Amino acid sequence: MQIKEISLPEKVIGFYLDSGIEHLYPPQGEAIDKGLLEGKNMVAAIPTASGKTLIAELAMLSSITKGGKALYIVPLRALASEKMDRFLKFRQIGIQTGISTGDFEARDEWLGANDIIIATSEKADSLLRNETSWMQDITVIVVDEVHLLDSPNRGPTLEVTIAKLRKLNPKAQIIALSATVGNAQEIADWLKGGLVLSEWRPTDLREGVYYADTINYIGAQKAVAITSSDDGVNIVIDTLEEGGQCLVFESSRKNCVGFAKKLDRHVDKLLSKQERSVLDKIVDAVIETSETEASKVLAQCIRNGVAFHHAGLNSAHRRLVEDGFRENMIKVICSTPTLAAGLNLPARRVVIRSYKRYDSNFGMQPIPVLEYKQMAGRAGRPHLDPYGESVLIARSYDEMEALFGNYVNAKAEDVWSKLGTENALRTHVLSTIVNGFASSEEGLMEFMSATFFAHQQEARNLQELVEQSIAFLLEHGMLQQEGRLRATRLGKLVSMLYIDPLSAATILQGLEKAGKLTDLTLMHLVCSTPDMKQLYMRSSDYTMINEFATVHKDEFARMPSPFKSIEYEWFLGEVKTALFMIKWIDEIPMDEITAQFNVGEGDIHAFADIAQWLMHATAKLAETMEFPGTEKAYELEKRIQYGANAQLLELVSIRDVGRVRARKLYNAGLTSVEALKNAGVERIGQLIGPKTAERIMHNIMGSYQTGKIKGNGFAEAVYRP
Ligand code: ADP
Repeated sequence: MQIKEISLPEKVIGFYLDSGIEHLYPPQGEAIDKGLLEGKNMVAAIPTASGKTLIAELAMLSSITKGGKALYIVPLRALASEKMDRFLKFRQIGIQTGISTGDFEARDEWLGANDIIIATSEKADSLLRNETSWMQDITVIVVDEVHLLDSPNRGPTLEVTIAKLRKLNPKAQIIALSATVGNAQEIADWLKGGLVLSEWRPTDLREGVYYADTINYIGAQKAVAITSSDDGVNIVIDTLEEGGQCLVFESSRKNCVGFAKKLDRHVDKLLSKQERSVLDKIVDAVIETSETEASKVLAQCIRNGVAFHHAGLNSAHRRLVEDGFRENMIKVICSTPTLAAGLNLPARRVVIRSYKRYDSNFGMQPIPVLEYKQMAGRAGRPHLDPYGESVLIARSYDEMEALFGNYVNAKAEDVWSKLGTENALRTHVLSTIVNGFASSEEGLMEFMSATFFAHQQEARNLQELVEQSIAFLLEHGMLQQEGRLRATRLGKLVSMLYIDPLSAATILQGLEKAGKLTDLTLMHLVCSTPDMKQLYMRSSDYTMINEFATVHKDEFARMPSPFKSIEYEWFLGEVKTALFMIKWIDEIPMDEITAQFNVGEGDIHAFADIAQWLMHATAKLAETMEFPGTEKAYELEKRIQYGANAQLLELVSIRDVGRVRARKLYNAGLTSVEALKNAGVERIGQLIGPKTAERIMHNIMGSYQTGKIKGNGFAEAVYRP
């Protein structure tokens, strides 16, 4: 089908023609034939990079040009930015896009001026909870990566958010984009929509298994030259010698780094002079954004054209690696499977070095077919590579046969709702009542009947869990039963703060019981809630953490007896996480923290983001319920945001002044913004370098003119769990 033939305003058609898109891909044409532009709900279950986003774009643009508004829901913040970059191009045709990523309590009313609003599923849920008015004006709802309904962490929120949005806007069109999953038809039936199910790809994908120096595809083989005793190295070098780039998936971060280090001397030989000089610039940028030992390892690999990528990297490094790869300067990325879920980063060849992953209950387990397909699907850059190839590695003929059967020729699993647990339901039962979607048990059950769970199983299977959730919320003063179910002031606050009611109950009980309220008391309290991520307890941690807990026993609001071994073990995990965060706010150097806790810089920020959000909730709860700890919790919230002691808070709130620079300035007597202004750029330059001093001076002078400190995080803290 030609773009010109579809019934969209001329300016929209012109926009696509100008960007070089003249023909629709077959699945896109099928979506149009099935009623996409007539407002029909649609599920598109097609492979990565096969034009799913364009299907959503056509529906959004069709509705917007008739006066509508679109909400685009993504699972990850990184994806929200990627979509934002794309949709900003619509400015040329007068269509505005905004992104909602801030504080969960914020209504973001100002975003209503946009035609397209991008939000993560959690943020969309919080906007609904805060009764943001433009939510009612939405005419198209796009749900990207809808197969995440299957995720125990994200799925329940996603399906409840979809159910609420449909209740609020019964006429809105829903476009759900999915990987090819086993039961896409079931998702389409739930949404009362058409289904586009296709394996079509713009670039051919050859899936193969490497065994005995050969990549075996269905009906073809390719011999690989042996330059190393490591099969993975040989497959990578073979790709680069053909002029392609390689994405290598490893099961753990340690293996990613190890394999990148192993590869670099092989890849180094293949680089041109010009590539080397660009890589050197990337290396400079890596070093400039972090001084840790881990970043030196990354820098060394990048110098040789190889990188690793996992959640332990800080966000600046992740971006540098992704951009360096897109520009074809970095030739190989060794990544954990997280990279496969989302980011648009295709390569000529994908090598899956390990198809097993560690599971804390069952040890090493084979990955699901869906995950394999997501990784393999990254192979082949549209319009650049003649074809893409994915390669699994077998050590025996039998293993090769099994890999063909279990992955290459296998069908992806079905998606299953994960709403059926009290932990998943409790928070949604509360918010459903707070927002007036229900006011009785029957009303709740009727609301739940619109979920994917109810479509897939029986709504009445949720009855007992709904009853348990109501009982919990009544017991903890978040609901009242006055004939109808009504949310109390506390219930409304908990829903708006976007925390699990069990977290709120834990925090309030802790504040009430705690004798001494120290930094550790509050930090442990936050770390003992179900909303907090926990650090894993290694056996080598036990003695140190146990000793620490014993010495500080008066500071914990709750400490189980060491004789209750499982509970006590769990408690030690919380203490370890709290100690990790205390080190961060006590300005312990990054390297020391990462070494002691066996984490990366990215983990520190990820944990701090959640702890900051929960500490903010603690402050609000204490303030509203007139419990002790309000002031301290507000101060800790800021300290977690910046990773600094209280005395540095004024300095770190200036843009470009992090905890390390602030400490240097402070120790030299420059303890406030006023002191910096008086000291002048030269003096500041002597302490933290002339270029940074210029930038900082510019920031404080500019901000003083407007009477506000620019980038002042106190007022605009961003909570991003
Ligand atoms: P997906 O969302 O399925 O991963 P995208 O929609 O991002 O895939 O499309 C991948 C790439 O293909 C994008 O660069 C997009 O511009 C391009 N593309 C999509 N549809 C077409 C088309 N009909 N013709 C040419 N290029 C297209």
